[in-house]
Amino acid sequence: MDGGETSDALRRIPAVDEILRREAFAPLLKRIPRPLVLKALGGVLEKMRTALRAGAVLATADSGKFAVSAADVEAVARELGQASLAPIVNATGVVLHTNLGRAPLAAQAAAWGAEVSRGYANLEFDVAQRRRGSRQAHVAEILCELTGAEAALVVNNNAAAVLLVLTAIGAGREVVVSRGELVEIGGAFRIPDVMRASNAKLVEVGTTNKTHARDYEAAVTGDTAALLKVHRSNFAVVGFTAEVSVAALALIAAARGVPLVVDLGSGALVDLAAIGLRGEMTLREAVGAGADVITASGDKLLGGPQAGILVGRRALIERAARHPLARALRCDKFTLAALEATLRIYRDGDPWREIPALAALALKTEEVAVRARRLADAILAERIDGLGVAVRDEVSRVGGGSFPLARLATRVVELTQKGRSAAAIDATLRCASPPVLARVSRGRVLLDPRTIFEGEFDFVVSAVRALRREETREIA
Ligand SMILES: *Cc1c(COP(=O)(O)O)cnc(C)c1O
Repeated sequence: MDGGETSDALRRIPAVDEILRREAFAPLLKRIPRPLVLKALGGVLEKMRTALRAGAVLATADSGKFAVSAADVEAVARELGQASLAPIVNATGVVLHTNLGRAPLAAQAAAWGAEVSRGYANLEFDVAQRRRGSRQAHVAEILCELTGAEAALVVNNNAAAVLLVLTAIGAGREVVVSRGELVEIGGAFRIPDVMRASNAKLVEVGTTNKTHARDYEAAVTGDTAALLKVHRSNFAVVGFTAEVSVAALALIAAARGVPLVVDLGSGALVDLAAIGLRGEMTLREAVGAGADVITASGDKLLGGPQAGILVGRRALIERAARHPLARALRCDKFTLAALEATLRIYRDGDPWREIPALAALALKTEEVAVRARRLADAILAERIDGLGVAVRDEVSRVGGGSFPLARLATRVVELTQKGRSAAAIDATLRCASPPVLARVSRGRVLLDPRTIFEGEFDFVVSAVRALRREETREIA
């Protein structure tokens, strides 16, 4: 098609007003907000122009203009109308998957967050006294009760908690850290960088594999603001190693009159040794061991919303709370409500049953096996041409930078299909609504029921249904 023919063809694209006046578009405009329809129509017409310029031949309507289908416009409008941030099914078996929002909230925590956020709340209002209150009051007391600490403060996330405490007590002074704990977590959180941002002067002691009590002792000067211990959450050092425990560091800190700050990372409130995950200190244990300030995440092993939790000695927590950064790093009513509801489960309920992350971690292999069999049978019942369904032994991961070496025995459903690659199967599952994210490992597509909620099995089966050959042809 030459230039003249193209511009002739472009003139046969109907005008927007004319299209919207058509009878076929009336029901569509009733169902979908007009701005979305306009945007979708704009997109459809632009695609037609591009196709014409590329020499494509388009269907013509009775009017002599090119046909524009209301169904096409509706499909595009529906897609445009979808929220960007939306639920997906986590079939990866990684329980605390940072890219998938880390800990899923307990039902009552999510509901309470929504309930409190829907209208007004006593966020910073003391109803009984009819005066201004503190947003921290709703969570501080229960955090103290659960950890044995004197005081508590909650900020946006653990990175914020570490930044705040280092700034409030360490700015312009020295903070002593082991070289073996200058960690990077999640790609963006690096202890030396946070230290620089806080204006504290990093004093490195020991070596990568070994740091001794005497290294800390020798580093303390009149300018030392704190000793810092960082939990090596996402990696392990094995072999010829030595580190100083929180309890031993607490003794050194106390003898020298400097505070010990511990970045615990995971923030477990229950002992995970109960399910075979050893070596993670609980918040209460860290308080008991004598740490002066402890920071942790709300959405890792604690299983709550994204938050940074600080617990410890009253004078230090108050100093952090009074610092202007605390205002910049504070969290909103939804977070505080969801966190309070989560903490109440620890105090009054059964965390192993009600906190989804803990329940998923606690699932025994036999229990996952029953689920895997049920999922496999439901998929087999679809009788999909050429689809292979097998239940296999595998391992799930804790994730969220916790227990990097832990292997949770699990049972997965492996999907194979003649003539279709693992990548293609995976892509089909991701196209479902809600998307199903499988684990793709060494060319295999695996569905790990450890992280698939009971109520989501139907979503997985319906996502798998798209692997039917006929449906694939339709899409193509
Ligand atoms: C996860 C982690 C952080 C960062 O916590 P966020 O809540 O993601 O900000 C910091 N320190 C340690 C030791 C961690 O494990």
